Amino acid sequence: FVDFPIKDTEAKVRVFTTRIDTIYGANAVVLAPDHPLIAEQMEDSALKDDVLRFVERIKVARASRTTAPGEEEEKEGVNTGMFALNPFSGEQIPVWVANYVLMEYGTGAVMSVPAHDERDYEFAQKYSLPIRRVIERVSYAQESIEHDPTSEDQSAAMPHAFTDYGILVNSGEWSGKLSAAAIREMAAHAEENNFGAAAITYRLRDWGISRQRFWGAPIPIIYCAECGVVPVPEKDLPIVLPEGVEFTGTGQSPLAGVAEFVNVNCPQCGGRARRETDTMDTFVDSSWYFFRYCDPQNDAVPFDKERVAYWTPVDQYIGGIEHAVMHLLYTRFWTKMMRDIGLVDFNEPVKNLLTQGMVTNVVEGTGEWKAMSKSLGNGVDPDEMIAAYGADAVRLFTLFAAPPENELRWQETGIEGAVRFLRRVYNFVYRWRETLIDAPTEAPAEFSAAARALRRKTHQTIARITNDFDELHFNTSIAALMELSNELQDSGITPEQASAADKFAVREALEALTLMLAPFTPHIAEEMWEGLGHAGGILGSRARWPQADAELAKKEALEIPVQINGKLRARVPATPETSEEELRSLALADDKVRLHTDGREIVKVIVVPQRLVNIVVR
Ligand SMILES: [Zn+2]
Repeated sequence: FVDFPIKDTEAKVRVFTTRIDTIYGANAVVLAPDHPLIAEQMEDSALKDDVLRFVERIKVARASRTTAPGEEEEKEGVNTGMFALNPFSGEQIPVWVANYVLMEYGTGAVMSVPAHDERDYEFAQKYSLPIRRVIERVSYAQESIEHDPTSEDQSAAMPHAFTDYGILVNSGEWSGKLSAAAIREMAAHAEENNFGAAAITYRLRDWGISRQRFWGAPIPIIYCAECGVVPVPEKDLPIVLPEGVEFTGTGQSPLAGVAEFVNVNCPQCGGRARRETDTMDTFVDSSWYFFRYCDPQNDAVPFDKERVAYWTPVDQYIGGIEHAVMHLLYTRFWTKMMRDIGLVDFNEPVKNLLTQGMVTNVVEGTGEWKAMSKSLGNGVDPDEMIAAYGADAVRLFTLFAAPPENELRWQETGIEGAVRFLRRVYNFVYRWRETLIDAPTEAPAEFSAAARALRRKTHQTIARITNDFDELHFNTSIAALMELSNELQDSGITPEQASAADKFAVREALEALTLMLAPFTPHIAEEMWEGLGHAGGILGSRARWPQADAELAKKEALEIPVQINGKLRARVPATPETSEEELRSLALADDKVRLHTDGREIVKVIVVPQRLVNIVVR
């Protein structure tokens, strides 16, 4: 908040703002019609009658109107004749009263910054207040709004407000700072000089949870003529909904017509009383159902605290963005209430939120991609897709086509790609299954270069997917699985010629591939797992997620062949960064190489970095 002193008085008006960085653009302080300053300071003002008439008119209009206060279509205001002093610039600005400022929000007073707030812009244009630009865009991605660089007042040039953050201009010593820094530093400056402070404000409204519906949790309240509102005693909870209720459609709760439900004895005096017949909003239930899921059979308490402490808070919430404003807010609020009464010991019900993107498809005849809907006729029936391609392929395509938080464009060629990929890995398993029966179970000491490369790729893939999976990057996980299957294909290792070590490497790769496919394509993965000799499948054999060996996954393990007079004589370890000079000395120092070079004349050494060293001797 920032305190604006009222000129020639001791009074100050306190203003809440989230955009202190725009304060040099304030052209007025605007009060709510019922702000106490009006009565306090206008006693001797010549404008008193005008202002009070306006305030009265707004009050009457609000009382007779159905729109919520502050949402009146036409913004109206009147100048009070008072002046406020901008504590940053010392500038004197008028104090207005207007219908769009509410006493219930913040402090009932705002600073009007028309260049950077749409509502203030509208108000300033209507009452011909000057508009000063104090925020400039910082990126070309932001909208460029016309203005007149030769004029201090932009009311003619600016077509509407610029409401983004940006860089400060026309703001005295703060000019040139970015909004974020300015907000921080200006709040600190206000605090040091005792005219303001940073604060967190809450805007909480009451939540009416009663509904005139049958299907909902009964509200455990009894009305007694003698005792008033009496809560149902705990021993009588839960209240069970009656059956055989008639739905009249009259708008009253259907429960109101069920005499044996409504008529009860007062728990306090025993006299005749009535039970509440409204039920709770379903948002009440969705606020804490996941706590109850941890202990659904408990008939003594909502849930056992220890059980809930074991399972919650929820690790990952996945839902559409439409949940972010209502359901999730209620859930958070409810959780804080349960924390306050000692049922849970954390503040937030959910650790991670993922709002998944829309699935879109072309609307025929328009070329436009829109969310699938019946009315647009661009929907795709998942059952038909599954019948045509199989559930695994449809799911793989859906997860591969886009990160889950992005829009997914439905393109059937993508499903065909998924089918081809699955067919390839499936064939691979069946081509190898006989050969792998006698593959060693312990890693042999020596591997061919091809097998080493395959193992490296296998462990790199495990590491990558283990990480991506936690981050819900399913599309990159699937891409990594495709790369691993390519490596298998390109390794040149064949069932016919595979050594024991080769078999070990191939089985390691195929098993990892299969297990990591399982979350995406469970059906085919189960088949493949059995094909690899594991009776009972993945679930039946209690298979575990593969573990990456960091040593094997290390990238830079090159083996550079060394030829002497055209014959392969040795391999030297290197990395892609090993220089030509280093490779040359590594090769010449190698024991196997020296067997062939000692005592002979080295005519030439040809080094192809990352590939080969060729030595010519005579
Ligand atoms: Zn009573």
